[in-house]
Amino acid sequence: MSREQPTIGVLALQGDVREHVAALNDCGATAVAVRRPSELHAVDGIVIPGGESTTMSRLLELVGLLDPLRARLAQGLPAYGSCAGMILLASDVLDTRPDAHHLDAIDITVRRNAFGRQVQSFETDLDVRTINGPPMRAVFIRAPWVERVGAGVEVLATVPDGPAAGRVVAVRQGAVLASSFHPEMTGDRRLHELFVSMVRVGSGG
Ligand code: GLN
Repeated sequence: MSREQPTIGVLALQGDVREHVAALNDCGATAVAVRRPSELHAVDGIVIPGGESTTMSRLLELVGLLDPLRARLAQGLPAYGSCAGMILLASDVLDTRPDAHHLDAIDITVRRNAFGRQVQSFETDLDVRTINGPPMRAVFIRAPWVERVGAGVEVLATVPDGPAAGRVVAVRQGAVLASSFHPEMTGDRRLHELFVSMVRVGSGG
């Protein structure tokens, strides 16, 4: 578990696991799939991919990962969630199933499937704070947005224009990063690089 080449788990119960594994490996981490509690013990950070948050919630419970993951996050395990992963990391979720669990790792309220039927999927260019270089192409697929950010949460990106202008779509609180969009799908590795650098700094998690 060298800090220079950290081991980063990708929660592999459902969703676009392979793309995150490739992105993390490109950024100098060793990416491993996490499907059971023993695999969670071995990681320096965790990525929760896009997919379907209520299905992932059910599977987390089924395989016995819900409580161990919550416990490691509470101890400071660095985490990055994209789309469904953002929903799972949030402290409050609107428009979800009443029996869906979330992990309380970042103090935000997210609204699931927030962009509505007309714009379920779209792409735009985002300026992401703390990330250098040109705007980042962002792919949104039945994405959530953030409706409330807690005092300790930094807003990294908002939608620049259109009907959802100003909506918060990327946030960070300490060692936890979350985005409504899917950087693993574009080949732009800058958000994964940011996360790998957060894991290198570590948090005692
Ligand atoms: N709408 C999905 C959910 O509620 C998230 C979509 C995605 O991850 N691309 O979990």
